[in-house]
Amino acid sequence: MQEMEKYMLYIDGQWMEPVSGNYENIISPATGKIISQVAVGDERDAQKAIDASVHAFKDWSARTAGERANILRKFAQLLEQNRQQLSQAVSAESGKPLKEADIEVTRSIDYALWNAEEGRRIYGETIPAPSRNKRIEVIHQPVGPIAAITPWNFPLSMIVRKITPALAAGCTVVLKPAPTTPGSAVLVCQLAEQAGIPAGVVNLVLGDAEKIGKALLTDKRIRKITFTGSTKVGKLLLKQAADQVKRVSMELGGHAPLIIFEDADLEQAATNVAQIKFYNSGQTCICPNRIYVQQTIVEPFIQLLKKKVEALKIGNGLQPEVEMGPLVNHQAVEKVHAQVNDAIHKGATLITGGTIPTIEGCENGSFYAPTILANINHHMTIAHEETFGPVAAIATFESEEEVLAHANNTDYGLAAYVFTKDLARSIRVSEELEYGMVGINDTAVTVVEGPFGGIKESGMGREGGPGSLHDFLNKKLITTTI
Ligand code: ADP
Repeated sequence: MQEMEKYMLYIDGQWMEPVSGNYENIISPATGKIISQVAVGDERDAQKAIDASVHAFKDWSARTAGERANILRKFAQLLEQNRQQLSQAVSAESGKPLKEADIEVTRSIDYALWNAEEGRRIYGETIPAPSRNKRIEVIHQPVGPIAAITPWNFPLSMIVRKITPALAAGCTVVLKPAPTTPGSAVLVCQLAEQAGIPAGVVNLVLGDAEKIGKALLTDKRIRKITFTGSTKVGKLLLKQAADQVKRVSMELGGHAPLIIFEDADLEQAATNVAQIKFYNSGQTCICPNRIYVQQTIVEPFIQLLKKKVEALKIGNGLQPEVEMGPLVNHQAVEKVHAQVNDAIHKGATLITGGTIPTIEGCENGSFYAPTILANINHHMTIAHEETFGPVAAIATFESEEEVLAHANNTDYGLAAYVFTKDLARSIRVSEELEYGMVGINDTAVTVVEGPFGGIKESGMGREGGPGSLHDFLNKKLITTTI
């Protein structure tokens, strides 16, 4: 029998056992079976990783941008060469279909290459001075060693999207990925080492989130924390960061509205909704939680969407033909099911789904049927709490004014979508929506070329786009009397 993979910590260029000596099982969301084991690190391991990142900072930050870019390009090349192994790890642990895992690898490569190049464009400024004998200059310097905490839903791309801008800017990293998806994090560290990233520049601590988080947040030498995860944990980290006025980037929860006006291309809207709502089984922070359809077109839209949703092939994501995998665990299924039942109880109409299906060969998997609910109103939990599951919740509206008021009536502000052929309306509505990202006749807002991030309780800071390194740089003003 093949021995089960045991994931260790990577600190100062060494693979090591956790101080606790403990390991925990990793469970496949598709089969419920144990697939590997992961080290349970704690604050003692985090401390070692912080020491290593501080020690490595001196050399790494002093390297030229070109040297760092060369290493990051090599890292991107290695991601490509190990595409299959990476997609397998992502799919096996998160449950998502291999096709989506493959897209995640592509996106990670894009981010690595983009940030490698951005590192060479950290331009300073020379500003006209108020007197003849004075000169004013602004330079950018890396903030220092940073901590990156990442979630399970995009276990690879979230890591690459955080560590590559940090590395390009000259920062060193202590990475704490989600406990349930360590495989891709381990592969990232192996490939980083092969790419020539020196010991201590990237460190991996797996294990007890609270203890590791506390160590990272209370050590003054860690100058910044970049986090993607729930708003609840984000707020906790923000409070801890306040004590030392640590820099923060937060990519938190969302509750995206998707608005379809009566003049929209209905076929396109239904295709996009079917894609984005059920992507990663609805477990993405930008997937639409509320779908507002103009009253006059709701019936044909539901019929179009129903056909597409009922055609989705559900199963173990590792099987290539599967289009929708399981949810991350059984608690997630229960939460989604409770939201669906609450909505039905309060008057929603179940169009399709709403069940916990049994999939052949995956009897212990955590699956939920792709679901459509119509007649959603704001009294239902689903209308204001993030679903993180494959449920398309449809409400109707009559006027632009009315739908904008509903769409903005949330504490979240990550992504929003509008479908219309009316140019003036698309401009008006996209400017009125209080969100960090708006897609017009488009749901693919995650593009390396654009700044990804939210406002309000969805967070602060941006990943990708021009200036993707800014969150990892300090501005320094230098004035000179000559
Ligand atoms: P999700 O609901 O997507 O799992 P979480 O916010 O719970 O989102 O988790 C995102 C990341 O934050 C994971 O790596 C998790 O281990 C980590 N995390 C959770 N609680 C804490 C904490 N108290 N301190 C630091 N990190 C934490």
